[in-house]
Amino acid sequence: MFDSLTQKLSQAMKALRGQSKLTEANLEAVLREVRMALLEADVHVSVARTFLQRVKEKALGAEVMQGLNPTQAFIDIVHRELVEIMGGQAPEHPIAFAAKPPTVVMMVGLQGAGKTTTCGKLAVFLKKLGRSPLLVPADVYRPAAIEQLHVVAKDAGVPSFRTEEKDPVAICAAALAEARLKGWDTVILDTAGRLHLDETLMEELARIKTATSPDEIFFVADAMTGQDAVRSATAFHEKLGITGVVLTKTDGDTRGGAAFSIKQATGQPLKFVGEGEKLEDFQRFHPDRMAQRILG
Ligand code: GDP
Repeated sequence: MFDSLTQKLSQAMKALRGQSKLTEANLEAVLREVRMALLEADVHVSVARTFLQRVKEKALGAEVMQGLNPTQAFIDIVHRELVEIMGGQAPEHPIAFAAKPPTVVMMVGLQGAGKTTTCGKLAVFLKKLGRSPLLVPADVYRPAAIEQLHVVAKDAGVPSFRTEEKDPVAICAAALAEARLKGWDTVILDTAGRLHLDETLMEELARIKTATSPDEIFFVADAMTGQDAVRSATAFHEKLGITGVVLTKTDGDTRGGAAFSIKQATGQPLKFVGEGEKLEDFQRFHPDRMAQRILG
């Protein structure tokens, strides 16, 4: 993700070499190239526009130039604005743990986005933090999905909830009761997905939300679907009030633009990225580290 953006940005900045200061005139050519690089990375037009406006304003502000040559000053500004657009400084904890356990994390998203896999990845991540997660299969429409979650839980070395119950809301409520009883401190709900946005599903998810009062609702988005992922995130947010996004499949041939748009579109941060099919291929998303990587 972003390799080509890195290359293009570094190319764009060459235009500033040998300049003694940043001016409207020499910025114009650079910003035009940065804009093209962003659009090619599948960054949404409006996000690119906001970004460039902010970079331009800051770059023309004389006080930032002190002690830095124009290229360094420009890179510094781009870095800060990249961090900002990707959500600012990451909070100390990516999950708002409940004061009184169990913490409930509800995973939502379209079918195939990587929800079930991400439940396992999150469980491994939480175990490393010393937590005891319980995975809960709430996708009753696809028996294979339930079995898949049990397998993922086994691989992750965490328990999964088993029940004869067939109603997803009742399953989640029963799982919470069991977690309280057995001392599992984080309950991860793997909800059903559909191939497309679907009102019936949204209603069901809203009922699960009401019944379980989740501390976090993570929208799992497939990076390969680009701006569609951002649109779906917005729709889920309107209905459910998501609290964060997990972007999966960033190891694939994706241009990564969704990572830029999610915060602006939903107001909610990108919290984690999936970087492969294995349970370890998972990381917190840090806007500052990503900005650093993008700038090479
Ligand atoms: P769900 O329908 O949302 O529960 O999606 P799944 O968890 O079943 O994932 C769908 C497919 O995407 C599976 O083949 C996963 O192995 C794959 N997958 C999930 N996350 C990633 C990722 O970060 N990278 C890659 N390459 N594949 C992933």
